[in-house]
Amino acid sequence: MAKKENKEVRDKNLPKAKNSEADGAKTLPLLPLRDIVIFPGMMSPLFVGRKKSIKALDIAFSGDKEIMLSAQKEPEVDEPLERDIYNIGCIATISQVLRLPDGAVKVLVEGKERAVIKNLEEADGYLEVKVETAPMIADSPEKSVHTLFKAVRSFFEKYVTLNQQFPAEVADTILAMEDKTVFCDQLSANLPIMHTEKQELLEAPTLKRRLEVMVERLGSEIEVQQVERSVRSRVKKQMEKSQRDYYLTEQMKAIQKELGRGDGERSEFEELRDRIESAGMPDEVKQKALKELGRLEQMPPMSSEGTVSRNYIDWLLDVPWSKRSRDKLEIKKAREILDKDHYGLTKVKERIVEYLAVRKLVKKMKGPILCFVGPPGVGKTSLGRSIARAMNRKFVRFSLGGIRDEAEIRGHRRTYIGALPGRIIQSMKKAGTKNPVIMLDEIDKVGADFRGDPSSALLEALDPEQNNAFNDHYLEVDYDLSEVMFITTANTLHTIPRPLRDRMEIIDISGYTDQEKESIATKFLLPRQLKENGLKPANCLLDGSALMKIIRNYTRESGVRNLEREIGKVLRKIACKVAEKKTNGKTGKVKKEIITDERLVEFLGEIKFRDEIAEKKSETGIVTGLAWTELGGTILKIETTILPGKGKFILTGKLGDVMKESAQAALSYIRSHATEFGLKKGFHETIDIHIHIPEGAIPKDGPSAGITLATAMTSALLKIPVRHTVAMTGEITLRGNVLPIGGLKEKLLAAARSGISTVLIPEENERDLAEIPDNILRKLKVIPVSHIDDVLEKSLTKSPVKKRTLPMGRKRIGSPKKTRIAARARGVEKRS
Ligand code: ADP
Repeated sequence: MAKKENKEVRDKNLPKAKNSEADGAKTLPLLPLRDIVIFPGMMSPLFVGRKKSIKALDIAFSGDKEIMLSAQKEPEVDEPLERDIYNIGCIATISQVLRLPDGAVKVLVEGKERAVIKNLEEADGYLEVKVETAPMIADSPEKSVHTLFKAVRSFFEKYVTLNQQFPAEVADTILAMEDKTVFCDQLSANLPIMHTEKQELLEAPTLKRRLEVMVERLGSEIEVQQVERSVRSRVKKQMEKSQRDYYLTEQMKAIQKELGRGDGERSEFEELRDRIESAGMPDEVKQKALKELGRLEQMPPMSSEGTVSRNYIDWLLDVPWSKRSRDKLEIKKAREILDKDHYGLTKVKERIVEYLAVRKLVKKMKGPILCFVGPPGVGKTSLGRSIARAMNRKFVRFSLGGIRDEAEIRGHRRTYIGALPGRIIQSMKKAGTKNPVIMLDEIDKVGADFRGDPSSALLEALDPEQNNAFNDHYLEVDYDLSEVMFITTANTLHTIPRPLRDRMEIIDISGYTDQEKESIATKFLLPRQLKENGLKPANCLLDGSALMKIIRNYTRESGVRNLEREIGKVLRKIACKVAEKKTNGKTGKVKKEIITDERLVEFLGEIKFRDEIAEKKSETGIVTGLAWTELGGTILKIETTILPGKGKFILTGKLGDVMKESAQAALSYIRSHATEFGLKKGFHETIDIHIHIPEGAIPKDGPSAGITLATAMTSALLKIPVRHTVAMTGEITLRGNVLPIGGLKEKLLAAARSGISTVLIPEENERDLAEIPDNILRKLKVIPVSHIDDVLEKSLTKSPVKKRTLPMGRKRIGSPKKTRIAARARGVEKRS
């Protein structure tokens, strides 16, 4: 009520709108419009908020309800002045006023007449204008207007068909209008164009002009609509394609299901899930596997991602998590098995048995890892196999030779194409149990380069302190290796990375003598080869001389691998003969083949190796050295010639750096003792010394040829021949002392094989003689030496030293200690 009264009170106070018809002009309150242009005949609601506008409305509404509506040039301007308002607008009547709670007013106006503002004034709190009505002039020839009119209509029709948004009823109403002016006003009012464009239409003074502008506007609107439509249709096409794809895949799925494949797939997943549940995996691994299975189920069946995922699950399932073989460790049985499988090797077997005994008592696998060191074919692998058999464990082996990439041990990450777990995990899969014996061959040949250091990964696998959580890059989950028994093998010790070596218990297995090989062949290799070749002992006999000839002249090795191969070759030929006879229908007895050493050519061809024979006679400058190679020991002849020259030192025959240094040291020793040897001072300046070691293709290196080189040079310089039956090994210092060497057993075997009768060895190697078989020591005179003078005295046919003083503190050869050794080994030279 109060509100109404207030309104009435206010209305009374308002000034009335003044209209003066006299000069054809009207004075009206002005309502500036922000974003809209009103045309005659157009009904539109307006929201009015500005005070001045509300006042103008009130004045108009309290009078004859007429008001001038004219658009602002810039809608943002809040207090428009004359210049901010278009001077052509529309006189409208207000048909409704609604006051809103926030003080704004909503009015419904209806455009009446186009009008021109003649004058604008600030009245009492509102804008007041003097306007003149200005209806559009229909001045042009009817015909051209009509043509234009038709064009506008057809444009509009086209526009309506293109723009689906334009309300059809509105379009119909407009098109139904006959009166051109009304049509124009209605169309202008309803076209969705900018208000500036609408203003342009309103301002067109004549009908013709208005129609022209409309043609332009509609034309460009049609263009816009056409572009929009083509974009829309393109988008639609794309959407349709993806919809189509979706539909087809759905259909394919349905078809597969119909064929029963869909069900199969599901049951395959079910099967995998069951396997994961029953694999005995640790919880963490199980969760990982199930998660991966979940992912796999979401993937399209044949996708590469699906394959990767599937492989991973298969690996998790294939690695043993809880299955183990039951350990049986009876020492007596172990001993029996080792003896049954291997001839000789008494000490090695004993150490293995001790090792197993400790394992049994401690009941834990923690402890050093066994490492068998020795040349190829001496039975390292087969010992490992026997250990596994004795313990009732699975046996797997792999070679580390040439591995340079850490990933070979630890696996590749799954992101790599074709990634696999490392060799350790692969071996576990092969073994199928958690507690196999894994043999890592050639641990001395592990390399390291930019791809990482495999030995550090190996360390992690072998170290009992940390291998219960071995991390393979592919598996991504920790794997417990603590129950695995690792055995490693190597050919030499010195290339095994130090940290690895520290964790290993080294068991040396040196080569076999010819006699040992003969026994191994008769007891093991021959029976095995007979069986493998389908022969019976009644079929053939390999006589002792033939076997020895194979050992000496068809093979050259420390082990027995090639020996077995050669025996196999002989037996294959015999098998051929036996088989031939049987197929000829002669079922009777096949004659037993006796193979003697003379008949070997028939089976194995010409001999491959002649015994390295010691020189036939003693010559100057030629010395027999002894060398160790990975294939065993060998004799090495060193030749020296003195030529007239300028003090050059020539070394030929593929010598390594260590050997070259030995030669230099030997020469320096001789030069520093020139006078004692009766050589002129500066003797080396007028000569060249050429040292050559034949058998050029074999690289030779190692620190054990020093005394041999010194002897060869002294012999050549003093022209005193070297005893051809003497061989030697030992390094030399600049003072002439003899340093110890390695591989004594192999070297002595080689010496014995080659018909050498006396061997000079470093005094410090004396203790190694305990390891040498008696039959070898019986064949050789072994003389321990500690200084080069002793070497020269023993090896040259004539003592080279005329007058010399012994260095302080050095004992002469033949000390009581040496005689003791000599007593042990019959044949060692006795001296008083
Ligand atoms: P490595 O591993 O040392 O290279 P292997 O273990 O492969 O050598 O041995 C080669 C062959 O020689 C095997 O068939 C093995 O049985 C046989 N062999 C080696 N040493 C002996 C031995 N002392 N007694 C019986 N057979 C042996």
